[in-house]
Amino acid sequence: MRTPVIAGNWKLYKTAGQALELVGGLLPLVAQTKGVEIVVAPVFTVLGKVAEALAGSNIHLSAQDCFWEEEGAFTGEISSTMLIDAGCSHVIIGHSERRQFFGETDATVNKKIKAAIKAGLTVLFCIGETLQEREGDQTFDVLRRQVTQGLRDLSQEQLKKVIIAYEPVWAIGTGKTATDSQAQEAHQFIRGVIAGLYDKDAAEEMRILYGGSVKPENIGGLMAQADIDGALVGGASLKADSFAAIAKLG
Ligand code: PGA
Repeated sequence: MRTPVIAGNWKLYKTAGQALELVGGLLPLVAQTKGVEIVVAPVFTVLGKVAEALAGSNIHLSAQDCFWEEEGAFTGEISSTMLIDAGCSHVIIGHSERRQFFGETDATVNKKIKAAIKAGLTVLFCIGETLQEREGDQTFDVLRRQVTQGLRDLSQEQLKKVIIAYEPVWAIGTGKTATDSQAQEAHQFIRGVIAGLYDKDAAEEMRILYGGSVKPENIGGLMAQADIDGALVGGASLKADSFAAIAKLG
């Protein structure tokens, strides 16, 4: 049985005061929610404060990115060790916004994933096709390439620290969710790629989340699909009541 994961990607939102207000609202709403790994990913500057607010709770803390070197002359970067030091257990790597706006490639994603796992973090590894790729019938080729290159050189043991988030780029922040069956088709394909790269057990164990305009209204239908194990939530994670409703899985 795969434990479902509901992760909130706060993106570039929430100052310290706003973040603490959101967490303060969320904690009582999900305190009794069992059997779901709940994760929130605030901006770097508020991680320490949010970690203090979450101490002893059932909500895990994630960052939205990390660099692959542990330390050195890399102005502006943050390492996995530093994220752990700030209280993180998880990190998002390879989000499409980073691929699109910040030059992230399959190769840099792979370096980051390896460094994060080495440091002890659980990785939320994002993949997904653009609208142009979907319309050009390239979805499966893109997903296979992103998975294969992103996970390059990772042992089956290290793979246990990876959660895949399938986020079709055309569904992120657009209000357009993939249909339940479109999402299921992609998830099943990704699980097959893992089985090919590793084995059937590794594929069965892999949690694969869906992301892209997930809301309280559509989480139930998504979770009813055989290969969907949770969600990476953007917009709807910025309000305590909607994120808590999603964490209850619809
Ligand atoms: P969205 O974002 O839920 O606002 O579409 C999802 C994401 O980018 O992780």
